[in-house]
Amino acid sequence: MTRVRQCDLAIVGGGLVGGLIALAIAKRRPDARVLLIEGGGTLGGNHIWSFFESDVAPADLPLIVPLAAHGWDGYHVVFPGLRRRLGVRYHSITSERFDAQLREVLPAERVLIGRKAIGVGPKSVVLADGARIEAGGVIDARGPGDLSTLECGWQKFLGRELHLAKPHGLARPVVMDASVEQEDGYRFVYLLPFGPDRLFVEDTYYSDTPDIDPVLLAGRVSAYAASRGWPVANSSREERGALPVVMAGDFEAYWRSGGAQVAKAGMRAGLFQPTTGYSLPDAIRTARFVAELSDWSAPGLHDALHRFARAAWEERGFYRLLNRLLFKAAEPGERWRVLRRFYKLDESLIGRFYASRSTNRDKARIMLGRPPVPIGRALRAIAG
Ligand SMILES: Cc1cc2nc3c(=O)[nH]c(=O)nc-3n(C[C@H](O)[C@H](O)[C@H](O)COP(=O)(O)OP(=O)(O)OC[C@H]3O[C@@H](n4cnc5c(N)ncnc54)[C@H](O)[C@@H]3O)c2cc1C
Repeated sequence: MTRVRQCDLAIVGGGLVGGLIALAIAKRRPDARVLLIEGGGTLGGNHIWSFFESDVAPADLPLIVPLAAHGWDGYHVVFPGLRRRLGVRYHSITSERFDAQLREVLPAERVLIGRKAIGVGPKSVVLADGARIEAGGVIDARGPGDLSTLECGWQKFLGRELHLAKPHGLARPVVMDASVEQEDGYRFVYLLPFGPDRLFVEDTYYSDTPDIDPVLLAGRVSAYAASRGWPVANSSREERGALPVVMAGDFEAYWRSGGAQVAKAGMRAGLFQPTTGYSLPDAIRTARFVAELSDWSAPGLHDALHRFARAAWEERGFYRLLNRLLFKAAEPGERWRVLRRFYKLDESLIGRFYASRSTNRDKARIMLGRPPVPIGRALRAIAG
């Protein structure tokens, strides 16, 4: 006999956005019957999610900051001919802490772990073990939809946490060290100092392809550590990913690719910063939005989240245009010049850019002057 369970809201996917929605509801509406359904063995998978404090509305900081395992009073960027310290606080959430904190706050009976969904509809979910969930509304938060419906470049990376035989001497993260040899597009190394002799080192590319050669990139992480004089005793966690850098596309086709008429959140709803592929700032906004919604019925939820995601997509044409300039007008080996120019701009403008909140004045400031790309190619990229 099929087992059936009823709830007000079912969230499929206990990753970043699914977990944050469940958390925001637990804080705001603790009596709501919400089920969080995760196919993997833990909530949050294997990630380090980082964010600038300026990415998050002050009212949402109490939700997100307790999840952070590490925090710093600023960060650095390094380019040929430019070294800069920026003062905004930077935080990193590890998926281990995310999992532990969520399990502490969410009632155990409302979290299903290791339960893969094989059918997700607007009002019901079927699990691989045969169980069925009937809900007032369902949110599909299972990660990206069909990215081939979008025209993308890629931010791809492989990172390792290194345990060093001596202190590295870094007091705060280096979000981009682009002084390294340029390969496969724009290349930089990303550094998070987790402790005096613990350092997360990520080799990153703004590349035309999403392909990752893990052996090559792991070798470059080791070579980078050696070049800085950091003897590696051993390495622990490793993460890798290829995030979409969206240049163009049809939002409706992408939305439908994740399941027509089903409410969606996170990457699946196209809710990420188009230039970085980062979704944490949107995930927090979405969590508050869903927790405050008065109507969790299937059509109400679908229409509200569709409107929310579509509005973000429409507001972000400027970032897609910049991505076309970066990928189509700049020669791959020269892309770093575009980023170096950006990092010379005003710090508050940089903060608004990462939060997808650039003002018209910011946009003019980014585009004005002499962008370091050939003008004919720039015009073709803008037209395209
Ligand atoms: C390695 C890596 C590092 C990143 N770092 C950052 C960062 O520092 N900052 C940032 O803002 N963004 C970062 N991103 C980008 C983006 O924010 C993350 O990918 C983020 O996790 C996306 O959130 P999500 O909730 O949409 O999807 P996910 O977090 O991927 O969650 C989807 C969840 O659904 C589950 N699932 C899938 N299928 C099923 C199924 N059939 N049944 C049940 N459950 C299922 C998965 O197991 C997973 O837990 C990173 C991405 C990667 C890959």
